[in-house]
Amino acid sequence: MNAVFESPAQALATVPQQVLHEVFGYGAFRGEQREIVEHVVGGGDALVLMPTGGGKSLCYQVPAIVRHRAGQGVAVVVSPLIALMHDQVGALDELGVRAAFLNSTLDGDEARRVERDLLSGALTLLYAAPERILTPRFMAMLQSLNERGKLSLFAIDEAHCVSQWGHDFREEYLGLSALHEQFPGVPRLALTATADEHTRADIVQRLKLEDARLFVASFDRPNIRYTIVEKDDPRRQLLRFLRDEHEDDAGIVYCQSRKKVEETATWLAAEGLDALPYHAGLDAAVRRRHQDRFLREDGVVMVATIAFGMGIDKPDVRFVAHLDLPKNIEGYYQETGRAGRDGLPADAWMSYGLADVVNQRRMIDESEAGEDFKRLQRAKLDALLALSEAHDCRRVRLLSYFGQASEPCGNCDNCISPPATWDATEAARKALSCIYRFGQAGGQRYGAVHLIDVLRGKLTDKVTQRGHERLSTFGIGADVSEAQWRLVLRQLIALGHVQTEGEFSTLALADSARQVLRGEVAVRLRVPAEIKARGKATRDRTSRGAAPKPPPVPLDAAATARFEALKAWRAEVAREHNLPAYIVFQNATLAEMAREQPATLDALAGISGVGAKKLDAYGAEILRVLDSAA
Ligand code: ADP
Ligand code: ZN
Repeated sequence: MNAVFESPAQALATVPQQVLHEVFGYGAFRGEQREIVEHVVGGGDALVLMPTGGGKSLCYQVPAIVRHRAGQGVAVVVSPLIALMHDQVGALDELGVRAAFLNSTLDGDEARRVERDLLSGALTLLYAAPERILTPRFMAMLQSLNERGKLSLFAIDEAHCVSQWGHDFREEYLGLSALHEQFPGVPRLALTATADEHTRADIVQRLKLEDARLFVASFDRPNIRYTIVEKDDPRRQLLRFLRDEHEDDAGIVYCQSRKKVEETATWLAAEGLDALPYHAGLDAAVRRRHQDRFLREDGVVMVATIAFGMGIDKPDVRFVAHLDLPKNIEGYYQETGRAGRDGLPADAWMSYGLADVVNQRRMIDESEAGEDFKRLQRAKLDALLALSEAHDCRRVRLLSYFGQASEPCGNCDNCISPPATWDATEAARKALSCIYRFGQAGGQRYGAVHLIDVLRGKLTDKVTQRGHERLSTFGIGADVSEAQWRLVLRQLIALGHVQTEGEFSTLALADSARQVLRGEVAVRLRVPAEIKARGKATRDRTSRGAAPKPPPVPLDAAATARFEALKAWRAEVAREHNLPAYIVFQNATLAEMAREQPATLDALAGISGVGAKKLDAYGAEILRVLDSAA
């Protein structure tokens, strides 16, 4: 099927679209994919910033195929994610594209076979870890390929790993500028889902991409619904969310500590969910087993620290829940971005409370980092707190953090049910002046619990021991509930008017508190929401806000039976090929088959996600499954 082109320009004009259709079975490029692909096929360098699920892989896979067909050799893909290479190569194999990987999991014989295929020009793509690429042996092979004009491009995936500012810095990535120095004629494509300015500038500088064209996709993930709830009884809140909204769905629950991961996983399992723990303290074999089950089976809930997730490209993760506050908006965005890569409705859910704010602040204060770094971390945390406390559209705030303007989305908690608010200016002033009085009466500092007791006029032992019942602020806030006081305090801390200090998180006034005390700053808060029970019956996923494409028509009973039959068939194929089921076909593709009921191979070829190789390999069987399930 190799086409011979008269000129590169001709290849550029027609072929990417053809490859997309024939190999991947997709009808059209998404967003900026077309421009990126054409730029790289034409020999240009590029830096691509695209959110998770945006379709970065196609941006180098299509050029690799096009250039290989035009006799330009192999594309080398640098990836830090050794665990994923096997599945990525498996997916390309399913598509009929010759690919291989070189990493430490191969034995000597296997590695030599791959090297032979590489040098003979048989491969279209080669995945390799950076430390492997930079070895003299590998560089010599690249040299030999390059001399023969058989090095088609370099794709540097997860390019933010080159930045010390990022969250996944890898020393070896710094060496990758050697690729440019030694092979200046080979186009390079760096890709990342990390958007902030700092990291971007770092990537350009360290990978020497000054002349590369920059592609910045929209960072909006319209199919993800953002919800942030106040912590009340977080376990119960989580369970209700999982039961009401995500029964039998696959998803991730993030916790901050290993201990909490273990406890939460055990508890969810006792509640009858298929939940597994994952954190860096677990045995490597256990981690691998749990990850495999998550990737390969339906409906597994992974309870994890942030050690889990980078490079998990499972497309049908239906929810990401945070039981604890992430470090900053970048972290929140990355982690929630693992939901809904397939473009179907997905949830990002977080519970958040005063203790989260205090903990995160303390972790920054007590870290060994320098003052500059701490200041940056504090500012980043503050931005996340503002997002959490917001009573307007979450998405507008999220995108504006990444420098992108947008309109209220209709698909976040605040858009769907705008929260009631109250004027808390007076209450805030009372709290601040009470902290001030503590300072006057002996210079001692106290925590939130004691402060609220004093404000509400409670005669606890501590109150009487300190003589705080004699303070002018004693009992001035009896009309405000404890829950509301906690909210007021959290807001004051989140806004930076109050600082927390030391082991007991005692409270102190910041300079800006003066403005609030003088009544120059109004404080508006959401009314503490009692958690609304959203029963299954009231849920209507298909009518949710702006999805990227029209939401699929729900399957009727007969189509559901066909869908289940197809899934059962797929499970067998996946087992035989030792691959996750979604690599054989994604759910969305099977659902379309079940709905459309194609009766011929031609009709089947029209379904999105069915390329030539899969049609050839599985077409007849699929028609038979559809026929017998009808
Ligand atoms: P990223 O690496 O940016 O997170 P992927 O490359 O894994 O995203 O793509 C996300 C999903 O979108 C995959 O399931 C992929 O098959 C699908 N996809 C990408 N581009 C297209 C397209 N043009 N048409 C249809 N599906 C696409
Ligand atoms: Zn919104």
